[in-house]
Amino acid sequence: MTTVAPTLRHHSRLAPLLERWDSVTAFLEKGAGAILDLATRIWVGQIFFVSGMLKIFFMSGMMKIADMGVAVQLDADRHPLPGLEANAAAALGVGVDLLCPILLLFGLATRFAAVPLIATVALLQFNHVDSVDHYYWMALLGFLILRGPGAISLDNFIDPHAHTTALPFGSSLERFDAFARRFLLPVFELVVRVWLAWLLWRFAFRDGPAVLQAAGLILCALLGVGLATRAVATMLVLLSVTFLANAPALGDPVTRLLLFAGFALYGAGALSLDHLVLQRALRLCPSLSNDTRWLEGAPRVVIVGAGFGGVAAALALRHAWARVTLVDRHNYHLFQPLLYQVATATLSPADIAAPIRALLRGQQNCRVLMEQATGVDTERREVALAGARVPFDYLVLATGARHSYFGKDSWEAFAPGLKRIDDATAIRSRILAAFERAESCDDEQERRRLLTFVMVGAGPTGVELAGAIAELARQGLREEFRTIDPATARIVLVQSGPLVLPSLPKPLSIAAERLLTELGVEVLTNSRVEAIDADGVQIGGMRIEARTVLWTAGVMASEAGSWIGAERDGAGRIFVGPDLAVPNASNIFALGDTASCKGADGKPLPGLAAVAKQQGHYVAKLIRARIEGRREPGPFRYHDYGSMATIGRKAAVADLPFVRLTGALAWWFWGLVHVMFLVGARSRITVMFDWFWSYLTYSRSVRLITGGGSRAD
Ligand SMILES: Cc1cc2nc3c(=O)[nH]c(=O)nc-3n(C[C@H](O)[C@H](O)[C@H](O)COP(=O)(O)OP(=O)(O)OC[C@H]3O[C@@H](n4cnc5c(N)ncnc54)[C@H](O)[C@@H]3O)c2cc1C
Repeated sequence: MTTVAPTLRHHSRLAPLLERWDSVTAFLEKGAGAILDLATRIWVGQIFFVSGMLKIFFMSGMMKIADMGVAVQLDADRHPLPGLEANAAAALGVGVDLLCPILLLFGLATRFAAVPLIATVALLQFNHVDSVDHYYWMALLGFLILRGPGAISLDNFIDPHAHTTALPFGSSLERFDAFARRFLLPVFELVVRVWLAWLLWRFAFRDGPAVLQAAGLILCALLGVGLATRAVATMLVLLSVTFLANAPALGDPVTRLLLFAGFALYGAGALSLDHLVLQRALRLCPSLSNDTRWLEGAPRVVIVGAGFGGVAAALALRHAWARVTLVDRHNYHLFQPLLYQVATATLSPADIAAPIRALLRGQQNCRVLMEQATGVDTERREVALAGARVPFDYLVLATGARHSYFGKDSWEAFAPGLKRIDDATAIRSRILAAFERAESCDDEQERRRLLTFVMVGAGPTGVELAGAIAELARQGLREEFRTIDPATARIVLVQSGPLVLPSLPKPLSIAAERLLTELGVEVLTNSRVEAIDADGVQIGGMRIEARTVLWTAGVMASEAGSWIGAERDGAGRIFVGPDLAVPNASNIFALGDTASCKGADGKPLPGLAAVAKQQGHYVAKLIRARIEGRREPGPFRYHDYGSMATIGRKAAVADLPFVRLTGALAWWFWGLVHVMFLVGARSRITVMFDWFWSYLTYSRSVRLITGGGSRAD
């Protein structure tokens, strides 16, 4: 339907290959590179730290009680520092050896910490002991100074705000970083490569048999000129742990391995043949350039909703010849599966939400609009926003779902649901305020009401909330109140059907119910809620007085279906075809919670993050294929990698493709998966820390009562 870009028509065969290469190298640098940087910091740090400790504890081959004076003397005698009085020089050396490695470990002020270390090694090498290892250490420390400490570091948290931080030298450091990466790093990489090539040739290959000489010469030459460097360096990593592991002239194999691994992950740098080749290849692939001129006249793809589906679609379109507009009423993407942890005071909202703009920072073909969509004009192909209209050639509706009270909308005032951050903070305030009010309440009946929490609906959210509230009451608030005992709180989970977690296999549902009961949750199955009011709930003729009732039952798709007049199912989801297109509108797609798409068994796919994500990828692939005139992918197929739910702080149930897990093992697996899927290193690290802390102590870090939900009424 839309004209195919001339550039793409011409070069389309090479483009996918280069784009794949770009994704692989980005992963190597940002993912594996971060781990390598951490390993390098730890490895180099421990060498100096051990040396510092030895200077204090170990004298003349005998262990003795720490004697700083003797240690200092030892150091002063062995390694005098020119221009400094012997004892002062030695004390300085010990201080550097002990303090800088700690900074390296945490990645704090890494560059500052690496400078004295590199100076120490240089002094040692050029004034005292000649060793190839010293050159390795200097190379690794040099990379830390020029490249920075990597993603898993405290510096990395501060980096984005370097120019505004109150820390000293913030903006100067930022300028240094830009200068170092642009001018110093390429030269340093070249020098290290050439030196390593020379070293290997001289000590590993030159004196070997002819075949080895020839192979070695090729490897060393490639490394020196920087051609196919990643492959060559990977080979050298393997050789370092096998054939070259015991070559004394080549020094410490571990440190050498770290150096080669650096070239395998980060490549040869700008002064290399690889770089030249890549630059030429990139000219054939405008999607990888930062030049936005090639997007002129490109089809307009509008995605409404930056949830799991919308963001996946936008990201997967990053190389497409398309002008993408991503619209969301919020400026953040929310990781809904952990909302319950915000509601129960374990995590902060910022831990589970990431700014949409930051997610798409480097994506030149995508703009983000923080707007509420209010309708779609299918004739004119425009999306109506609160104050503007956005034209589209392709439209993706990914607006998710909201709560459904099955026609009893009046219940919402008494039983809030959990869907947004505001819901979570309001529920958190409500739960915490209930305990506070119970503490000051004189009326026993009202106190019981305040200390009763009812969850309506035992799907994953209900189960997880019930477990978390039970733990908060039994453990998290222990010994903090004087009038009430929070552990006596009554937590009730109501389910209309016979099983909790009905979407999981029966044995796991039974296990989940048992685990909940062990935590002190009252599970009422086959119990239908008949009424909810300010004082409690009516269930099958039984009355439960409760000030906190939470709705964890039904959801209803967003109103997007009504914008396009599409046919919908009972839950308001738009019926879509096998290609996720809306019938009679092949350029409009619906996905995620807002779409009703049949799975392999003919039943509608469940409202899960994984479904939305896979559909987002699929739609992006399909749109791109159409734009570029390529073969379109076949019908959408959902790949089910399993479902999980946690019950409290250390138990979970998990239904995985080959195994079913319950208990602590499932909890660890659940934790690992959720941390992996969180967006951003900051969130991953803070969430891991918060979990670890609450795992050890049961304490909840975010017990704030804020906003309008501060009263449990
Ligand atoms: C508490 C909770 C726990 C969950 N736990 C799990 C779990 O453990 N595992 C799992 O797989 N799934 C879980 N889910 C379900 C999962 O989060 C959803 O299936 C998934 O988010 C659906 O993705 P989506 O892209 O369709 O919609 P969403 O992720 O909901 O995103 C919709 C986006 O559209 C935006 N939007 C809506 N209307 C408009 C509008 N008019 N204009 C502009 N923007 C709009 C919203 O702001 C939102 O950003 C959970 C859901 C909840 C609420």
